[in-house]
Amino acid sequence: MVLPIRAYGDPVLKKVAQDIQPGHPGLEQLIADMFETMYAANGVGLAAPQIGQSIRLFVVDASPFAEDEDGEPTDEAHLKDFKKVFINPYIVEEEGEEWGFEEGCLSIPGIREEVERQPRVVLQYMDEKFKEHEEEFDGMAARVIQHEHDHLDGVLFTDKLPPLRKRMLQGKLRDISRGKAEAKYPMRFTPQK
Ligand SMILES: [Zn+2]
Repeated sequence: MVLPIRAYGDPVLKKVAQDIQPGHPGLEQLIADMFETMYAANGVGLAAPQIGQSIRLFVVDASPFAEDEDGEPTDEAHLKDFKKVFINPYIVEEEGEEWGFEEGCLSIPGIREEVERQPRVVLQYMDEKFKEHEEEFDGMAARVIQHEHDHLDGVLFTDKLPPLRKRMLQGKLRDISRGKAEAKYPMRFTPQK
């Protein structure tokens, strides 16, 4: 089932998400719904708070980065099979010189901005079977993970922009939080008082 994506301004996006335990009710269906929701919105990652659940869970499928518009393999061709579920993830280490890339977010439609992030990350997480992993990711895979992991700490990519860029976006962000935004996928805007 495609779930509505919570828009910028929803308090759930600012909360620190909680760990979940094996046997978490409805987890299998939730994961399936999150993939379906992410694909319906043409996203490469989706974190549970974005569909209104403040739990430490995100899904990614970075395969769109593996091919260009003509279907030719890119420098990121190794991401072809980078489809994964991350449960209770925590960044253990980040390293390297920051690099910029224009990011977007399904909760912030219509805004894309260059975000600086470190190129390597070591992540501790559990897979959908609650098997523990500690794994290193780099480049675009690291970036997708850093973006989604931020969601679990209540951080959005717009929080990471230089103050001037942030100020220039204030009006647009306010519009989104008031429901004045268009997306090609179902969204839920925060009701205004
Ligand atoms: Zn996002």
